[in-house]
Amino acid sequence: MKHSYIPPYGHACCPHCKSEFDLVDAMPTVVEKLPHNDTAIYMMCPECHAAYQAAEKASRKSMAHQCFANSKRADLAQDGCIYPFAVTSMLTMELNDFDPVAAIENGHGLTREQYFGICSGTHDFCVFPGGLTIVAAKPTTSGAA
Ligand SMILES: [Zn+2]
Repeated sequence: MKHSYIPPYGHACCPHCKSEFDLVDAMPTVVEKLPHNDTAIYMMCPECHAAYQAAEKASRKSMAHQCFANSKRADLAQDGCIYPFAVTSMLTMELNDFDPVAAIENGHGLTREQYFGICSGTHDFCVFPGGLTIVAAKPTTSGAA
């Protein structure tokens, strides 16, 4: 995965206004249920986050849609570049001890099979102190031969 540009460590771009900000104080602003049983977490910059918190329901909705549109258009960019948006997922947060900086910088670090396996419940994971993560297929209980 190529990035359009690489921001300094611990920084990412607001999925709403695209400005770069420091993730240290980032808080999840909007969540979106994903079809494969994970939840996307959008962290807006402090200005947008505050505006969102103060906004009426209709404006919140349009701010959220702006985030979805920005991050999804990036996924479909012709050059394959990804804007470094402050977007992660619930599973990625769990794997990074709910640290937004680590979640954005490290991602989930799983193979496609492991990631979708955990989402669909065929795999499970265990995070050890220090961050070592073990992912394993769950034993099947069905007794299928
Ligand atoms: Zn913003």
